[in-house]
Parts: sequence; structure tokens; C-alpha cells
Amino acid sequence: MPDRTKYVLDEREMPTAWYNVSPDLPKPLDPPLHPVTSEPMGPEDLAPLFPMGLIAQEVSQERYIDIPGEVLEIYKTYRPSPLVRAKNLEKALDTPAKIYFKYEGVSAAGSHKPNTAYAQAYYNKVEGTNKISTETGAGQWGSALAIACQHFDIECKVYMVRVSYEQKPYRRILMETYGASVTPSPSMETDAGKAVLADNPDSLGSLGIAISEAVEVALKNEDTHYSLGSVLNFVCLHQTVIGQEAITQMGVAEAEPDVVIGCVGGGSNFSGLAFPYYHRKKEEGLSTRFLAVEPKACPTLTAGDYRYDWGDEAKMAPQVVMYTLGHDFVPAGIHAGGLRYHGDAPMLSLLVKEGEIDAVALHQTEVFEGAVLFAQNEGILPAPEAAHAIQAAITEALDAKEKGEERTILFGLSGHGHFDLGAYDAYLKGELVDYDYAAGSRVEEE
Ligand SMILES: *Cc1c(COP(=O)(O)O)cnc(C)c1O
Repeated sequence: MPDRTKYVLDEREMPTAWYNVSPDLPKPLDPPLHPVTSEPMGPEDLAPLFPMGLIAQEVSQERYIDIPGEVLEIYKTYRPSPLVRAKNLEKALDTPAKIYFKYEGVSAAGSHKPNTAYAQAYYNKVEGTNKISTETGAGQWGSALAIACQHFDIECKVYMVRVSYEQKPYRRILMETYGASVTPSPSMETDAGKAVLADNPDSLGSLGIAISEAVEVALKNEDTHYSLGSVLNFVCLHQTVIGQEAITQMGVAEAEPDVVIGCVGGGSNFSGLAFPYYHRKKEEGLSTRFLAVEPKACPTLTAGDYRYDWGDEAKMAPQVVMYTLGHDFVPAGIHAGGLRYHGDAPMLSLLVKEGEIDAVALHQTEVFEGAVLFAQNEGILPAPEAAHAIQAAITEALDAKEKGEERTILFGLSGHGHFDLGAYDAYLKGELVDYDYAAGSRVEEE
């Protein structure tokens, strides 16, 4: 019955298919273009990087795609994730609004990222891939892919941005514990890395350089594929287990969200929560609002252009139509490292462009204020990325209070912040600095 605090489903109530928003988009997506020739790319152009199972999903127009049994089995070790009513936060805010959050911090990586990592490792395994290379900034994606590769007996090679490798050892240790081999990037293992080091032996690295190294390894080795933790259509697809579960859980709570909120880096956790609700809105004729929250230091959806751009700094990744700040944009070094990406998922970008989804940008000090209030009242220390969604939910709740309105708010809590205590320390000591987009300067990678 309603008015519970936690809505925990039985694993038998998990969705058995992913929801693909593609056929429900207001217009078709523009085709990806080859990074060098700018010709439209076909599936065969992507084959050196990804298994055909994932490429098929990238271009699929099927509304539902069955989750393979082996992926479902591993999902069941940590899913369904809990949906929680934030009653203590509601009380602290003295708001008439009801606040619910869907918590993805219960996975092996402490975030939503394993939802796609397991799926990607699975499709690689069935097509005989023995090795996967990838890049990671602070290590959130790397740790998700490491555990997934371990499960499916695939070698996992992670190029980790050097400054994080040196300054933030804990995620590196987690990746190694899960069986991955982690190399600081730039490295002497690739031509891309060697070129950078020849120029600057003390390079701190960047996500762009690390992507170039990981892609090069995949292109040069027949038995190796590349893996990406956000942005791509199939990544957003895999994350829709989040929203589908939330719909079932909110059903138990007899609650319909007026607004669905999530943080956006490349757009995958937000898409995973919002897309199933977008479908529901269309089907049921609801008036659900959607709110994507990004950092002011990297305001892709609120200040970027909607156009073709490369997915990476080195122009090795395909060109896609998306909101972008430019492939060579380097955001300031805010603590929400997972939100420092110049572009956004094409499907999400299109829905923002068409006015179906709203976006807002926040400064990190206000974000940490919300994070601490949430931690103190709900007993979960949020990832700085996820705290963007929290702060936006708090603003909604206070707005409802001011207007004396009832309002049902659902937000995605994409992960915990147990590896981000340095950021909390900086906040508590009053050392956090806010960056505006215009002031976005060249600072070292998270
Ligand atoms: C990686 C990450 C993000 C940002 O990635 P999206 O693809 O936008 O979801 C957000 N929150 C957490 C906890 C992350 O690890």
C-alpha cells in the first residue's frame, strides 16, 4: 500500500526487455558520419570497434529489445534497485511535495554504469572478443567495465587519465581488484600516447588522449574491441531498466511523477530513467515534465550548439548531431568529473531540441549544499554527479512549497560518492570554486 518508505521489487518483477526510444522520437536521428571522410557510416564501419549485437541495437527501430538471459541473471545480483521516498528530506524542507529517488548506487561500481557494462561485455563475449579496451577519467566507467569483463571472462584494459591515476588511487585499486589492467595515459603503449609524450613528457593526460589510446588498441588488434560508457544509443537503451523499474515501483506507491529529474554527463542515466516515462507520457496522455541537470562549468544542453560534432577531442570517433560545446572544449576541473563531457547523447539532444525535455545548469557549491543536506537526512552520500539531480529536486520541492502546491518529484540518484570524499572535504573547508562556462579554462582532468 502507499506511504511506504522503500519500494523494493522482487527480481521476478524486473523488466525483461530494454525500451528503445528511437521509434518514438518526434523525428528520426541524423546518421553518424565518418570521422575522417564525413560520409554517412554503415554498420560495417563500426565493426572494428563494437560487436554486431551492439551495432544492431545502435540503429534498431524496435521499441522493445529482449534482455539476454545471461545479462538478466547478472542484473538480478543487484537489481531491481530501490526506489525510496525521501521523507526525511521532505520534512527538512517542510514541503508539501513528495520526493522519490531511484538509487543506482547498489551496484558493484556504485553507479548505474554496470547496467550497460554487463550488456556490452556479454555481446562481445558471444561474438568471441577476448579483450576490451576503454578509457576512464576518475574511474567510474573503468570499474564498471572491469567487473563486467571479469564476469564474462574477458581481458579488460583501461587507459586512465594520468592525473587521476596518480591523485585518486582508490578507483584504480578497485579496477585492479576486479581484474582489469590499468595504464596511466598518455602511455608508451600506443602511437597516440607516444606522440603526446614526445611533445610533453610530463603530460597529465586528458580523456581525449585516453580515448585515442583505447581506440587505437582496438583498431590494431583483431581480438580487441572498444567500449564506451555513455552517449551511444545502445548505452541509453541498456539503462532503461532504471525507468521501467521505477514505473513499476511508483505504481506500487500509487504515485505519478509531475517531474522526472536526472543529471547529465553524456546522458545515459538520465535517458535510462526518463525515456520509459516519456513513452508512458505519450501513451497515457500525461503532462509529465522532464528536467536534465548539468554543471554550469560544462553546460552542453543549455549553452551548446545543436549540430554535427566529433565524439572526441582527437576526431577519431564518429561525428553525430548533438548539443555540443565543441570537441576541443576542456571544462574546468569541477568535482563532478562524470559530467565533464563536451557533447550529449544524440537521442537526448534531439528531445531537448524538440522541447520535450528541459535543461538547467547549476554551480558546484549549490550542488554540494544539496548533497550534504541529502546525506544528513537520507543517510546516503551521493556522487557529486548525482547531487546535481538532488539540488534540482530540492528547488522543485521549495517551489511547490512557495506555491502551496502538491507535487510529485522523481529523481535519479545515479551513484554514491564514497570515492569522492576529497570533494566533500574541499566543500566542507570552503575551498570549492564555481566556474562559469565563459571562464571554462584549461585545467587538468578529474
Ligand atoms: C558517469 C556518471 C554520470 C554521468 O554519465 P551519464 O552518461 O550522463 O549518466 C553520472 N553519475 C554517475 C554516478 C556516474 O558515474
